[in-house]
Amino acid sequence: MLKTNQNYKLLNTSYLFPEIKRKVALFSSEFPNITLFNLGEGDTTQPLASSVSKSMIKKIEDLGLATLKSQIASNYNNSYAKNFDLSEIFISDGAKTDLFNIQAIFQSGMKVALQNPSYPAYIDSFVINGNANDLVYLVGNAENKFVPSLPTQRVDLMYLCFPNNPTGASASYVQLKQFVDYALKKRTLIIYDSVYSWFIEDPRYPRSIYEIPGADECAIEIQSLSKIASFPSLRLGWTIIPQKLLAGSFKRREINNIWKRRQQTAFNGASIVSQAGAISALSDKGLKECDKNIKYYLKNTKLIKNCCEKIGLECFGGTNSPYVWCKTPNKMTSWEFFDFLLKEANTICAPGVGFGSLGEGFFRLSGFAKNKEVLNATQHITKAFLLLK
Ligand code: PLP
Repeated sequence: MLKTNQNYKLLNTSYLFPEIKRKVALFSSEFPNITLFNLGEGDTTQPLASSVSKSMIKKIEDLGLATLKSQIASNYNNSYAKNFDLSEIFISDGAKTDLFNIQAIFQSGMKVALQNPSYPAYIDSFVINGNANDLVYLVGNAENKFVPSLPTQRVDLMYLCFPNNPTGASASYVQLKQFVDYALKKRTLIIYDSVYSWFIEDPRYPRSIYEIPGADECAIEIQSLSKIASFPSLRLGWTIIPQKLLAGSFKRREINNIWKRRQQTAFNGASIVSQAGAISALSDKGLKECDKNIKYYLKNTKLIKNCCEKIGLECFGGTNSPYVWCKTPNKMTSWEFFDFLLKEANTICAPGVGFGSLGEGFFRLSGFAKNKEVLNATQHITKAFLLLK
């Protein structure tokens, strides 16, 4: 029998992208000559950095194993002055799998805090695992600029993602410290999703939760190269599980040990080719090349945000993040606005309600498209908005 529960239908947000696809296909069959601009995607479009692809080809030729974990550790050591032991770093095939699988090591019936709106995979993984009975929503809204307040009750687990998908919000050092201090006090475990961290340019916003003192006693950080190094189909990420973690009734080293056992049993490892690419992406040369792509996406995002602000939309995110999050005009629902934008501006967005109930009345535009597509889309959006006056 499926391990889902009553909440399944209510909480299921995985319909979002299939529904977008269905509507777009319908539109295209009706108007086959219209070119559409896709600002709804969360996947990168720029090619891999050339040093990364070259090193993968070389790796296939010589298969001499350099160690990716050391590369990741030295990246943290240089950037955040943290001395992670290699045993604390777990290579993965991307963030999504670990965000889902990490639940396997906790008992069911835990109280879990999730941002609303947020990346739909968090809630769906709880629903699929049958653990969605005791969820606490961390409310994101225009007033708090989508950086929620602390939970008013104790929670066992808290998922946080900054820069956030879909809202583009980043938590400042001071805001993130409040979450860490709460977690240390309540022995809550934070699962910190930092897959967009390299988009942060402003030093007031930490790129890693481990920049906050004490975070290595209460937080697991989940990272991926999908967004920051154009790896969405190569599949490579890592999860940091510090030996010092002290959450709930777990003793130090326990969570690390259980996860190690879980991964040794149920994970076959990341492909050697992807690991070779990752070693290269994390080298000085690779970091510079990846940064060029990130700057390209940030430039797109800025164009989108400027356009949205100019036409009078209330906008969030759009800096330190590839996403612009806007309130729909004229009190339209997210899907009403999606239909409007598709029909009148031939542009695809991601309806906010697909990211949780509090996303209703918002929509997300993404800077991951090609620059030309963004320029075309912004012109079409500006023109379409004249119809709303
Ligand atoms: N976390 C967030 C916030 C995301 O937006 C995504 C993908 O859209 C992921 C994780 C998944 O990353 P990966 O491709 O490494 O599985």
